[in-house]
Amino acid sequence: MTQTLQAVRGMNDILPDQAELWERFEETVRGWLAAYGYRNVRTPLLEHTALFRRAIGEATDIVEKEMYSFVDELSGEHLTLRPEATASVVRAAVEHSLLYSGPQRLWYMGPMYRHERPQKGRFRQFHQVGAEALGYAGPDVDAELLLMCARLWGDLGIDGIRLHINSLGSLDERLAHREALVAHLRAHEGELDEDSRRRLQTNPLRVLDSKNQAMQQVIAGAPKLLDFLGDASLAHFEGVQAILKDAGLPYTIDARLVRGLDYYNLTVFEWITDQLGAQGTVCGGGRYDGLIEQIGGKPAPAAGFAMGVERLIALMQKAEDDSGAAPDVYVVNQGEAATRLAFRAAERLRDHGLAVIQHCGGGSFKSQMKRADASGATIAAIIGDDEAAAGEVTVKPLREERGQSRVALERLADAVSELLYGEHFE
Ligand code: ATP
Ligand code: MG
Repeated sequence: MTQTLQAVRGMNDILPDQAELWERFEETVRGWLAAYGYRNVRTPLLEHTALFRRAIGEATDIVEKEMYSFVDELSGEHLTLRPEATASVVRAAVEHSLLYSGPQRLWYMGPMYRHERPQKGRFRQFHQVGAEALGYAGPDVDAELLLMCARLWGDLGIDGIRLHINSLGSLDERLAHREALVAHLRAHEGELDEDSRRRLQTNPLRVLDSKNQAMQQVIAGAPKLLDFLGDASLAHFEGVQAILKDAGLPYTIDARLVRGLDYYNLTVFEWITDQLGAQGTVCGGGRYDGLIEQIGGKPAPAAGFAMGVERLIALMQKAEDDSGAAPDVYVVNQGEAATRLAFRAAERLRDHGLAVIQHCGGGSFKSQMKRADASGATIAAIIGDDEAAAGEVTVKPLREERGQSRVALERLADAVSELLYGEHFE
């Protein structure tokens, strides 16, 4: 017997039922990015392993243990399936000298690969949408990136996503902080877990990022990077905050926010929700002024973010389940004359911006009413021979105990509106 083959662990098929939501997400995202002047860039899924080692940093979760890396048997090249796309976008911008014609606002969307333990909201193939503002130094672009995110949540119809920000300062400031941090961690070495003891040697800042409950006290007592920032770094951070305040965008300063990748400096941020359980970060980003030079380009500042598409789509699904993507009206019709009137009725309702499903394919009233109920529609508009002869429609609320009524076609939109919103359209 042939064994059935299954998808690779942690890699999901997106079937038509779900794909609808994905397409709506992608469309919304394209419109949103265009509204801020970001332009699309598409880079290969495979890159030289050296790119990620150099860009992301050796002592990071991604490079230490999450990359799908292999030697191409045909060419002998060391290749890696991209775990993120900032490194790729910067590589492409440098390789094709994009910055020679001035700063660039770029975006990408697509699958990423990380060999982590699959769980709710965490996969081995997942998708990100990201924006990269290359060649911009000021706090204005950092703030713009944040305002952009806030607008997207609105466009997607999701809420309850909180903004955490921090500043990682400059390399010098981080080194001064590092010394104090290492001293603190050494003093509590007995309380550190194995990962953190190792990080103490390689990348002590990342200890602050630990999710281990047992270490939260040591972390809370650690010296704060913010206290080591000089005037220029503080001014940048305050510049970002001033714009956020002006725009009325609430945020929390989170001294423990250090981000998992090495390339960040100054502003870093995360958007977090409580609605998804443990994997609540839907977007992370910040400034990475050193990366372009590190990848071989002429030094230039930059900032950006990456969003987890699966997590955002889960939030869209939740919002939809709560509010119901159900139609406003389901039009039940039986008989030839009734069907003709039904088309006119449905179009009229849509003229008023209502979502209408017209029953197609016939069937008894009883079976059509069952469909109407299952559609989640608030109201059924029912047209049989009687109604057709009189040019009228029976309007029946499906979600509350209210009697049905019969109205002339001309009054239909008003009658429906009264039931839905308690008022007329005009
Ligand atoms: P974590 O600390 O949770 O592993 P991260 O710092 O590795 O997060 P980033 O590299 O900043 O995550 O990626 C940006 C966003 O992409 C995350 O906030 C998350 O929404 C999403 N993301 C990252 N890894 C995964 C994954 N394995 N599966 C699904 N989404 C992911
Ligand atoms: Mg991770």
